[in-house]
Amino acid sequence: MRQRWIFGDQLGPHFLGDERPDGDDGAERVLLIESQAVFRRRRYHRAKAHLILSAMRHRAAELGDRCDYVSVETFREGLARIPGPLSVVAPTSWAARDLVADISRQRDVAVLPARGFVTSQEDFATWADGRRTLRQEDFYRAVRRSTGVLMEGDEPVDGRWNFDADNRLPPPKGALTLGLPEPVWPVEDDIDAGVRADLDRWEREGVEFIGDAGPRLFAVTRAEALAVLEDFVTHRLPTFGPYEDAALVGDWPMSHSLLSVPMNLGLLHPREAIDRVVEAWDRGDVPLASAEGFVRQVMGWRDFVWHLYWHFGPDYVTDSNTLQAHVPLPDWFRDLRADDVRARCLATALAEVRERGWNHHIIRLMVLGNWSLQRGYDPREVTEWFTANYVDAYPWVMAANVVGMALHADGGRMATKPYAAGGAYIHRMTDFCRDCAYRPDHRVGERACPITAGYWAFIHRHEAAFARHPRMAQPVRGLTRLSDREQLLVQEEARGSSAP
Ligand SMILES: Cc1cc2nc3c(=O)[nH]c(=O)nc-3n(C[C@H](O)[C@H](O)[C@H](O)COP(=O)(O)OP(=O)(O)OC[C@H]3O[C@@H](n4cnc5c(N)ncnc54)[C@H](O)[C@@H]3O)c2cc1C
Repeated sequence: MRQRWIFGDQLGPHFLGDERPDGDDGAERVLLIESQAVFRRRRYHRAKAHLILSAMRHRAAELGDRCDYVSVETFREGLARIPGPLSVVAPTSWAARDLVADISRQRDVAVLPARGFVTSQEDFATWADGRRTLRQEDFYRAVRRSTGVLMEGDEPVDGRWNFDADNRLPPPKGALTLGLPEPVWPVEDDIDAGVRADLDRWEREGVEFIGDAGPRLFAVTRAEALAVLEDFVTHRLPTFGPYEDAALVGDWPMSHSLLSVPMNLGLLHPREAIDRVVEAWDRGDVPLASAEGFVRQVMGWRDFVWHLYWHFGPDYVTDSNTLQAHVPLPDWFRDLRADDVRARCLATALAEVRERGWNHHIIRLMVLGNWSLQRGYDPREVTEWFTANYVDAYPWVMAANVVGMALHADGGRMATKPYAAGGAYIHRMTDFCRDCAYRPDHRVGERACPITAGYWAFIHRHEAAFARHPRMAQPVRGLTRLSDREQLLVQEEARGSSAP
């Protein structure tokens, strides 16, 4: 029998046997390789290194004698230790697929189709075939139809595909938190203690990490992942839809599921999360707007960005820079020096990354992504930054989210317009502007909001191209009406790359 080689993001039962959660018959031997060279390639957030190592070691402990757990410098070294025929589920990055292809030229390796998503790569290829533009909404509706999730025949339940009008509310006025119970936090065990000791030792030996080494906050075992799902469905799903886009300084999880880490580690199949959420709606426990909002994120967005990673090809990240963004990341940003930043939105966002390697979608997109877009940070550097710092980041999820959505570096292949916004958006959707040194409606002067001024400087930089763009022509017209345009440009030129 072939031994199943699993990668560190293929840790759930659906990566053994066949894809069903109960497809593992317990007979197959498993190979899991802990490659330490990975941690020398870039300066990872310490919390991320901890989560990955802890997850792999917990999985090996669960599998017991069935698992050969090999701690070595490189994958090739690990493979050399275990002879015999292997099978492997197609891994999740171009680099890992190249490695597998190379190894399978030298020994007997059966490569199985990718798993861990709602749709297969063939499903996507069939859907994409012959389409001139690939719109997420069209993909999402096709997947709803093919799976029957939240459908009545060929129509969406309640007759609506989209609940944006009910969702995307600003936070409740004056609230410091959403007032929800604390999420369930994992309890660290001996395996975590071993990981901490190893990371301390590696640091002493010269491996560099960034970020705080606080308590582990995300699920690394299947049991923890199922507990997080249950907790989310019970306590936060009801308000997930309405407050999906809102942010508060004092409430970092808001109504979010915190499931991206276990889902991307392969511990939880996205379909299990979707089915549990739909069941809660079916029972009348949560509003349809929230259930649909979650299903859209997982079945729509997560699957879509996964497929785009392969569809756009291996050079997408390195070759996309339509907006000619070449500014290197300033040190304060690269090093997560939140305390050097006076703009409260950016300071909050960077502090969250430093503390836990995570923020929710709108902070990634509309604060950190928006700022990087406005300032013309190099897309490759920004992608590298997200990859190293985020606990849920893997190459497949970076491409479309960072290069396509946040930075619009691909000339609109992913998103029809740049997600650029001024301080007014942040003021509406968050409490970040409260007690900030700047005012969102000031473009120039002492209290000029760097996000607002940066927005106009960005539109100015691309004025000629945007004037011909159907969805950007309006901001260009707004720019031509600014009475303080010259003053604003001088001010932003002087700001340069310094911390705002
Ligand atoms: C610039 C940028 C960088 C991002 N980097 C990552 C990343 O490294 N890893 C990652 O998993 N997600 C990433 N996302 C998507 C999204 O921000 C995170 O999935 C989400 O914040 C994770 O928190 P959560 O599990 O509480 O999500 P929830 O808000 O509870 O959403 C539920 C689930 O939907 C999925 N999802 C939602 N939106 C997306 C999306 N755009 N792409 C992929 N999955 C999505 C995730 O699996 C998530 O767990 C990024 C988005 C942007 C704009």
